[in-house]
Amino acid sequence: MGDVIKLLPDSVANQIAAGEVIQRPASAVKELMENALDAGASHIKLIVKDAGKTLIQVVDDGVGMTQTDARLCFERHATSKIGFASDLFSIQTMGFRGEALASIAAIARVELKTKTHEESLGTEVIIEGSDFVSQNPCQCHAGTSITVKNLFFNTPARRNFLKSEQIEKNHIFNEFVRLAISRPEISFSFYQNNQLSYKLDASNLKQRIVALLGHAFQQRLVPVSEQTDIIRIDGFVVKPEFAKKKRGDQYFYINKRYIRSAYLSHSVEQAFLELIPEDMYPSFFLFLEMDPSQIDVNVHPTKTEVKFQDERYIYQIIKSSVKRSLGKFNITPALDFEREMSFEDIPFDKHKLPVPPKISIDPDYNPFSGSGVAPTLAGRANSKEWEKLFAGSDSALHGSDSQQETVLHEKNRENLLPGDMPDSSKRLMQLQHRFILAPVKSGIMVIDQQRAHERILYERFLAMLMQKKPASQQLLFPETVILMDQDLVLLREMMPQLEALGFVLEPAKKGTYIITAVPVDLIEKGSLQEIVEGVIEQYRIQLPGAENDSQKKLALAMAKKTAIRHGHPLDMAEMASMIESLFACQLPYQSPSGKTAVVIIGADELALRFK
Ligand code: ADP
Ligand code: MG
Repeated sequence: MGDVIKLLPDSVANQIAAGEVIQRPASAVKELMENALDAGASHIKLIVKDAGKTLIQVVDDGVGMTQTDARLCFERHATSKIGFASDLFSIQTMGFRGEALASIAAIARVELKTKTHEESLGTEVIIEGSDFVSQNPCQCHAGTSITVKNLFFNTPARRNFLKSEQIEKNHIFNEFVRLAISRPEISFSFYQNNQLSYKLDASNLKQRIVALLGHAFQQRLVPVSEQTDIIRIDGFVVKPEFAKKKRGDQYFYINKRYIRSAYLSHSVEQAFLELIPEDMYPSFFLFLEMDPSQIDVNVHPTKTEVKFQDERYIYQIIKSSVKRSLGKFNITPALDFEREMSFEDIPFDKHKLPVPPKISIDPDYNPFSGSGVAPTLAGRANSKEWEKLFAGSDSALHGSDSQQETVLHEKNRENLLPGDMPDSSKRLMQLQHRFILAPVKSGIMVIDQQRAHERILYERFLAMLMQKKPASQQLLFPETVILMDQDLVLLREMMPQLEALGFVLEPAKKGTYIITAVPVDLIEKGSLQEIVEGVIEQYRIQLPGAENDSQKKLALAMAKKTAIRHGHPLDMAEMASMIESLFACQLPYQSPSGKTAVVIIGADELALRFK
């Protein structure tokens, strides 16, 4: 047999690379605008027609390119931004992979006009599907204009994969917003279908956010600012009352580069804990600045995901500074400033990777403890004692140690006065669709319905996962769920366990699964698409401590996603059954993520209030 291995022609290699870098028109917008930023532009104009399918043009007044560079910039791995491998560790520019222009030119018709400030004549280069069409001198302003026409003309699969015009427009808008927020000192204009949609003058961050997202933001932004040896944090969080149902306006920038990080978002969400309902998300615009050698932006072709050293430390710093800002601006009533201001507890040593905390990151501190209930509650010695017992106790989130769990459990039982178990045949009451009140011998027991239900489901799911005896219910009408690529990877990882829970999923055509059966506990809990996405999302954001315990991780994700929420009315029978199930649990007093689920107001404490 003869040799069979061939090198791919560049045009094919570029098309393959384009699949990674340019997924949709918005990706081209992002790459072109980033190049304009890297070129030191002070004004950037974006012109889009038909959601980018017919035209994307970016015009800048940056440094421009020489005649040679104008031709070279379309070669793969052509970049002016790194010369040595070591440069990779001190990246300050947005681009550096030298892939974007080669990729775009492989799948569209690209017309480049560019001129440096020194030269009097510019250069025009036209390339179509990687084929060089022409190069000519031309009259043009200093700077660069790149026009992209007929995107995906030679990759029908990509083109057909595009979503509706409105969705693609939204993606473009999102990229525009991300970049415009990252550089308030640069002016931008954005034309869509020949109409000027945005004209943003050079300004400051606050004005830029307001100009892009609406005047209402003027009153909603709370400044955040913190500086440590390692990191500087600046920006704004949006007041808790404007939290959203979706993770919409969450903007993180590292060294002015927009990044997505579920882990860091989680740290801000932790700072907002108990200030907003559990299924809502805070909005924020946070700029982190740190030594580029501490981060690796090279991990992802579209460069929106980064890896950095000292991840836990950064997590803690963000959480603390956001909390502190909320406190400083009187958003939270009773913050312990001293404690919040000291970073001494953070497990960090410059020369060592931090050791994962055994119990939890911040074991004995909860500035909001008792805030959901009457303030006097926390004052009761007895209840305080056992709250303390559990405040630092293990949670699945941090990878729990079952021996410790049992000890705590026993202690808790001892601490409870005899008769403190609610009698579910007695009258129960629901308060504000959130708490269940039950008379017990020593006073009133208050149960947080959501946390209690999470506990019940968590232990049930965990037991199922361990025994591998799924309790499954066939669906009358199988449902199809559609998942994004990165979710598919996680789903495959979770698959054996999802099956142990009672899910039956069958892979169908690309990116979709058909669900034919679900766990019995799941019947009528909303759309399966939402549940599956939510479980994957929960699974993804869990702290690294839980990594090696995927059963707990999944049980927790499922419990959090499917438990009844605050605001859900319960009838007498449901409350009774909830209480019975709760006290059949191993650790009834805590939600699986470690939050207090049960509180007792003692009769003695009530008596004091009648003095
Ligand atoms: P990268 O940005 O990763 O270097 P690109 O393919 O996006 O790769 O761009 C290749 C090169 O073309 C850049 O390194 C830069 O030298 C040049 N270039 C691209 N766009 C512009 C622009 N708007 N102004 C000046 N030079 C540009
Ligand atoms: Mg680039």
